Amino acid sequence: MTEKNKEMDKGAVFEKITARKKELAGKVLILAHHYQQEDVYQFADFTGDSLKLARQAAEADSEYIIFCGVHFMAESADVLTSAKQAVILPDLNAGCPMADMATVEEVESAWHELTEVCGDQKIIPVTYVNSSARIKAFVGTHGGAVCTSSNAERVLSWALSQGDKVFFFPDEHLGRNSSKALGIDDEEIVLWRRGERFGANSDEKLKNAKTILWQGYCHVHQEFSADLVRRWREKVTGIQVIIHPESPFEAVAAADMYGSTEDIIAAVRDAAPGTSWAIGTEVNLVNRLKAQYPDKNIHLLADTACTCNTMSCITPANLLWVLDNLAAGKVVNQITVERETAAGSKLALDRMLEI
Ligand code: SF4
Repeated sequence: MTEKNKEMDKGAVFEKITARKKELAGKVLILAHHYQQEDVYQFADFTGDSLKLARQAAEADSEYIIFCGVHFMAESADVLTSAKQAVILPDLNAGCPMADMATVEEVESAWHELTEVCGDQKIIPVTYVNSSARIKAFVGTHGGAVCTSSNAERVLSWALSQGDKVFFFPDEHLGRNSSKALGIDDEEIVLWRRGERFGANSDEKLKNAKTILWQGYCHVHQEFSADLVRRWREKVTGIQVIIHPESPFEAVAAADMYGSTEDIIAAVRDAAPGTSWAIGTEVNLVNRLKAQYPDKNIHLLADTACTCNTMSCITPANLLWVLDNLAAGKVVNQITVERETAAGSKLALDRMLEI
């Protein structure tokens, strides 16, 4: 990014982005995730969750896809788009700390240990879409599937019908919430501690497990607790609590409902005017809902800001920098998934779509 863009007044950056968008119309598609800050979000052609955006990119014929999200989202878009399209992440520091908690090297080594203990059982790997393309490829080539926060229970149920147990990456909480929703007993849900031999589990525990959960988490959703839910109920009579399933089980169990970002948006949109809501997800989405539905009483579930700091790396200044370069005929910060990885990854994504 040029120093000039960083120093430029915000209004001037907005004007330049608008002008560049007009100049590059038809060639460029700007996508923004629900957690993106408003200053960037306002320039999006499409907004949504990660998979919805990747699929929109694949359906569009724009040459350049600027993904205002985090790294794994841009990778998924690259896997699903054609070779003629370039996917761009305006800041390469925009990663997902949770996705980074499961590297393919760690997962391969854990898989090796698990199959050593449970060699006579069929293990199906399942990965949350919030994972690297290499993890998705590992899952795809080992007979497993990707899941999202809205279909995790369905994918888990499918995986259990295909084998004896599921190895779930990288979000412990989504894995536990989905397992519990399917009625799996606590003793059959096992945590695989990263960096520990056999995930710090006995052979017996692993053999008896139905779901083995990778010890990964999202620091934003980890903040939510049953105590916060209780406090809101005490404070506002009749308040409804809705929470994202990346949150700990105790918080999800205490809430009135849980669901993906798209489910949260739909619940608030369809609610009656005057209703009160405490929402357990990233603050930018909660603030946007507050602004969109002033007839409803909307609060963030936590006292702290709950910001996805890495997604905040995408700023109007680096969006403009990408557009300036494209106008000059130069593609910067392109995200490219190597062919073999893309094929394995697509296998896992396609399997999810079939389920
Ligand atoms: S909100 Fe959490 S899971 Fe989503 S991109 Fe940020 S760190 Fe990753």
